[in-house]
Formats: sequence, C-alpha cells, structure tokens
Amino acid sequence: MDPRVEKFMAGIMARNPGEREFHQAVHEVAESLIPFIEENPKYKHAKILERMAEPERVVLFRVPWIDDKGEIQINKGYRVEMNSAIGPYKGGIRFHPTVNLGILKFLAFEQVFKNSLTTLPMGGGKGGSDFDPKGKTDNEVMKFCQSFMTELSRHIGPETDIPAGDIGVGGREIGYMFGQYKRLRNEFTGVLTGKGREWGGSLIRPEATGYGCVYFAQAMLLTRGDSLAGKTVTVSGSGNVAQYATEKATELGARILTLSDSAGYIYDPAGIDPEKLKWIMELKNIKRGRISEYAEKFGVEYYQGKRPWSVKCDIALPCATENEISKEEAEALVNNGCFVVSEGANMPSTAEAVEVFLRRKILYGPGKAANAGGVAVSGLEMTQNAMRMSWHREEVDQKLQQIMKDIHETCIRFGRNEDGSVNYVKGSNIGGFVKVADAMLAQGAV
Ligand code: NDP
Repeated sequence: MDPRVEKFMAGIMARNPGEREFHQAVHEVAESLIPFIEENPKYKHAKILERMAEPERVVLFRVPWIDDKGEIQINKGYRVEMNSAIGPYKGGIRFHPTVNLGILKFLAFEQVFKNSLTTLPMGGGKGGSDFDPKGKTDNEVMKFCQSFMTELSRHIGPETDIPAGDIGVGGREIGYMFGQYKRLRNEFTGVLTGKGREWGGSLIRPEATGYGCVYFAQAMLLTRGDSLAGKTVTVSGSGNVAQYATEKATELGARILTLSDSAGYIYDPAGIDPEKLKWIMELKNIKRGRISEYAEKFGVEYYQGKRPWSVKCDIALPCATENEISKEEAEALVNNGCFVVSEGANMPSTAEAVEVFLRRKILYGPGKAANAGGVAVSGLEMTQNAMRMSWHREEVDQKLQQIMKDIHETCIRFGRNEDGSVNYVKGSNIGGFVKVADAMLAQGAV
C-alpha cells in the first residue's frame, strides 16, 4: 500500500474504530485521491479529504413504537449529515436490521461524491434504522415511520436535508413519513423525494436508479463500439433497483438470467421477460413474497443461500447490497466471460473484487457513478417541487440519460489510463471530489 494512504487510513481507523464498511469506502477513495492531492497541494494544505471523512453532524435517536399486539418496540434511528459544501444534505433512508453507524457513514461518504458527479447542487447524507419491515403489517410500518419522523423532522427540511428511499424504504414508507412531517409542521413541502405522483413525486423516480445503471453500462459498452443487444445479464436483488435494471436491460435487447433476495437466487435461462417481471413486481412490492416463489411459478432452478455470480454472463448488475461480490466470485465472473459490471447497489464489490475487475481491465462502473441516476432524479424532483410543476415522463428520462452520459464523460476525463483504457474508480473519485473540494476551499474552515 502507498505509505501516504497507509498513514491516512491509520488516522481514519483510530478515529472511527470498528466501522469496517466506512474504512473500506474511505480507503478506496483515498487510493485514487491521495496521489491527485499531492499534485494539487491547495487541497492538501486545507485538509480537504480529512474534513470530508468527518461528518458535519450525526443525529442518533430512540424510535419507540407499539406493535399490533400492543407491545412497545424500540429501534435506533440515525441521520448522518456528511457534507453540505455544494447543496443541502441529500441521501436515502435505509430500514434493515444490519443498519449501524459505520454502514450509514460509508453510504453518506459515497453519497457526497455521487451527488457531486450528477452536476446538481446536492450535498451528501444518509440515514436509517435497524427496523426490519419484513413480516410487519402495514399498520406496524406506519407506526414505526411516524415515530421515526417525529424525531427526524427536527433535523431536516427542504432547504436543509432532503431524505429519500433506500433498502427497505419504498413508496409506502416515504408516504407514511411524508404524512407525519406534514402533520407536525403544517407544511406541504418537498422534504422527501420518492413521493407518490399525486403528491409531489416525479415521474421516472422509481425507475431512475435501475434505468441509470443500465444507461451507464450502455455508455461503457459504447466505448468499445458495443451495446446491450443480445447480451446475457445476471442481476442480484429483486427490489426497486433490480426490477428497473431488469426492465431497461430487457428493453435494450439483453436477456436477464437471474434475480435474488437475501435467501437465494433464481436462474431462468429463457430470460426474465416483461410478463415475468410484472409478476415479480406484484410478488415483491404488493404481496411482499420471496424470490423462491418465482422458481415454483415458472419451473426454473432456485439456489438457496447462494449468490448468482457463478452463472455465465456477459454483464453483471449487482443491485442488492454492499460486499455481495467476493474476490472468488469476481474471478468466476471474469473467467466465465463477463466483461461489464455496472453497480446498481452501493459498494457491492469487496475491495479485492474491485482489484480483480481493474486488473482484468473489464468495463467496471462503481456504484457512485453507475447508480447516481436515482439521486439525480431526486434532484429533479426537488426542482419540480420548487417550481410547483411536474415534467413529462419523456422529459425526465431524457434528463436522466443526459446526466448518466455526463457522469460517464467525467469518469473518462479523470480516469483515462496511459494505455487508453478507463479506470472508472479513479475517474469517479476525482471527478466527484474536485467540485466539493473547491467549494470547501471557497467557504473556509467550516
Ligand atoms: P430494496 O429494499 O427495494 O431491495 C433490496 C434487495 O436486495 C432485496 O431483494 C433484498 O432482499 C436484497 N438484499 C438486501 N439486503 C441484502 C443482504 N444483506 N444480502 C442479500 N440480499 C440483500 O432496495 P433498493 O433496490 O432500493 O436498494 C438496493 C441497493 O441499491 C442498495 O445497495 C442501495 O443502497 C442501492 N441504491 C438504491 C437507490 C434507490 O434509489 N433505491 C439509489 C442508489 C443506490 P430481501 O428482500 O431478502 O431483503
């Protein structure tokens, strides 16, 4: 390891003990940025990277709520307000039993770079709870969301901090939280994004992360004069991002072979066509069932407790969660001919897996670039709310496509290797950094 990176990371680890995912995210960025900062000493003297690795504010709170049996339940609530140099804090809320401060700090840190890459004026943040919506009734989810927002509402606002969805937080949860915020404040305002169409939401927001991830894959393929047409694709997850990545990739002529959830994956060699996808959306979003039911319904194989990366494919779209591709799985993917990885999820590849992708020179689009479409359309939702108008579907989709192309261009500008290939990790890290760093320089030591 570069001794400068090693020294920097020793400081990070001492100040943030036990926060494994946060260390991983900062390390990846430090490896790209420290050589760049050495060449640009103004950033070094102002300790920009050191400041960016320290949240501006962290709010931690108790979330008490009463379940359907009348019993009191207690969860933890968090909001990490990471960086507001270029705009108000913006980033999702995650409800999942694995949520802890380290995971939210990693997500908030990545969000700062991602939001900067979108070209929109948004700072970075992330929040959530260890609440598990799985197996809860709608009434219990509503009770929890209301209690969570009762405290969170003191810290957010349309000019301050604008949360959105993430794992475990979709349209239903955003609705309950928006309702409670409105009731407490007596204000109808764009304080959350991912809202329903009829009450301030933007068309294409539900689709945006998955579509954007496929548009990014398309832009990477185009650098080799190639396209998605006729390609085989493995997708992990079966939630919001996975569903719309599947929809768009299929529309562009690819064949989706797999989907998964935390219990296992299904392999459908014939491809998950629009009819089957419609069935999955009903299963996951309304009935809240398991992906194994797909195997029973369509008579395909289900692999319990496994991830889909041993399946031969041209393109992999990891759309479930962090660290879901190990070094061995990355090697299996590339050895089986996979030459494009576009990350719908945040940090789905371990550091060792990323090394494999970079060493083997495949087209590897890291999450902070490839999944920025979601927050980009959230930014467009904020604009529409501020203007009190709503744009047509085609208009939002056009803007999303343009933003993904611009992010891809930025990655090329900062990530071109001497041999002409592109290191999208370096490109997205430096590309995301410069705008935030210059704003921080201008604003002084705050
Ligand atoms: P959803 O909750 O809609 O779906 C998550 C999917 O991933 C589910 O299929 C879930 O399975 C699976 N999953 C979650 N945790 C694990 C785990 N520990 N191991 C295996 N599978 C798991 O979330 P989203 O689709 O919104 O988010 C997916 C990823 O995309 C996350 O990394 C998120 O941070 C990222 N992302 C999301 C954005 C958005 O706009 N929603 C924006 C940018 C990034 P199960 O049902 O069994 O839990």
